Amino acid sequence: MIKLSHISKSFGRNQVLKSIDLTVNKGEVVVILGPSGSGKTTLLRCLNYLEKPSGGEIAIGDFKLNCKQATKKEIHTLRQKSAMVFQQYNLFRHKTALENVMEGLVIVKKLPREEARERSAALLEKVGLADKLDAYPSQLSGGQQQRVGIARALALEPEVILFDEPTSALDPELVGEVLEVIRKIANEGITMIVVTHEISFAQDVANHAVFMDGGIIVEEGPPAELIYHPREERTRQFLKRIT
Ligand code: ADP
Repeated sequence: MIKLSHISKSFGRNQVLKSIDLTVNKGEVVVILGPSGSGKTTLLRCLNYLEKPSGGEIAIGDFKLNCKQATKKEIHTLRQKSAMVFQQYNLFRHKTALENVMEGLVIVKKLPREEARERSAALLEKVGLADKLDAYPSQLSGGQQQRVGIARALALEPEVILFDEPTSALDPELVGEVLEVIRKIANEGITMIVVTHEISFAQDVANHAVFMDGGIIVEEGPPAELIYHPREERTRQFLKRIT
């Protein structure tokens, strides 16, 4: 359903992604593991064109985009098909939780405000924030802010949600509540690509695990196999460090 072919990205002379190929089936949860600096975030950002890939092709369903010659319209279409949940939440500080979720529905989806309000309230309820609709980000914990970020991504009804280390900015006691919400929406069959260091989450929730290092996919496979029986030395070394 999602197919990345030969995705590369350089920052100046630093080639950060080296011809990445990855296929993600509909409804699958794919986790991307790997050391810091291996290109995980850049790959997610390329997928949603927050970074312009230097080359390659992105296909989501029937939609295909050649990264070297993408038009504005194609980039807009790509962004409607994929939504990002950021490490630092990236909420609008001067808007309430409800307004943060409504924004995309009103601006991107052009829904009437009343309908956008109802849909957003329902999504905030789904992520356990029914009593926080009118709270501003500064009045919410990190875990609550990230759950608003997840509701905002869901509101756009994308074909895939991209999670960029969604729990890495959180205090340890808040990690569980966010992973629980991600787990719940994964169970609803939403396609996800999750960059994370949470190994037990990867094992429990993901259908497929990818290990990246130095801008390439070193190995990939079923999570338990990759975690407990890695084939490559680089994967073994990494897992030893983080578990
Ligand atoms: P990871 O998510 O695996 O930690 P990143 O994708 O963030 O890795 O970074 C991969 C490499 O790309 C790093 O060497 C980083 O310094 C470099 N990089 C990332 N973003 C930029 C940028 N905007 N400008 C220059 N270099 C960047």
